[in-house]
Amino acid sequence: MTKRYFVPELPESGGLIDLPAAESQHAIRVMRIKVGEPVELFNGRGKQCDAVVTEIQRNQCSCQSAPPQVIDREPDRFIRMGIALPKPDRSKELIERLTELGVQHITPLIAERTQRAPTASTIDKLQRVIIEACKQSGRNQLLELGSITTAADYFMSESSDLKLVAHPTTDGISPISFANHDQKQICAVAVGPEGGWTESEYQLAVKGGFAPVNLGKRIYRIETAAVALAAIMIS
Ligand code: SAH
Repeated sequence: MTKRYFVPELPESGGLIDLPAAESQHAIRVMRIKVGEPVELFNGRGKQCDAVVTEIQRNQCSCQSAPPQVIDREPDRFIRMGIALPKPDRSKELIERLTELGVQHITPLIAERTQRAPTASTIDKLQRVIIEACKQSGRNQLLELGSITTAADYFMSESSDLKLVAHPTTDGISPISFANHDQKQICAVAVGPEGGWTESEYQLAVKGGFAPVNLGKRIYRIETAAVALAAIMIS
């Protein structure tokens, strides 16, 4: 597959363009890019274009690009997730998978049982993970990371058409019952912290219109639950 690079502002009619600093570094130091090499550039908002490397300086890679085109590789259904993110190394894996699967938006949640709240710097590093996962998977749309929010605020403010809260209780039904209902629906899925939702958070979710879903008799780690739910709901 042609190597892909993220360039937020692609010239409308094509032309000469410098890769952003982080992408230039990666292209030169890691990918050992060469002048004359064909590459694909994408803007993270649905567009991509073919380009050719024209010049490599110490830390700067320049390309000649064709006009960008909309190439849609998004799933039919918009999935938004509210997730009490695990530790940074596990969050990285999680965000990588959810970007590949095509999740549109994630709100990092602070739940009552959150042990270590995500910091602005963790979120910043996750942005880089999203870009790399888009490069690797051919996705042209970046997954959006929302601002860090308390679970209580999230449950009261999320306004998707269909809202699901993952909770290993007997109240919940299988998320498969909600898959494929109406592809146009925007679907929100909430996944709790390692210690689970507190009873008051769960009650708030239900009050906020979230339907409880249960993934079976075993208890999963946050990543497993989130990836399984995204895969089910996206199909
Ligand atoms: N001890 C906690 C487990 C938390 S697991 C408890 O009993 O709630 C972390 C999160 O993953 C949960 O809050 C839930 O959102 C999700 N999860 C894990 N296993 C699940 C299952 N079988 N069904 C639904 N959600 C699950």
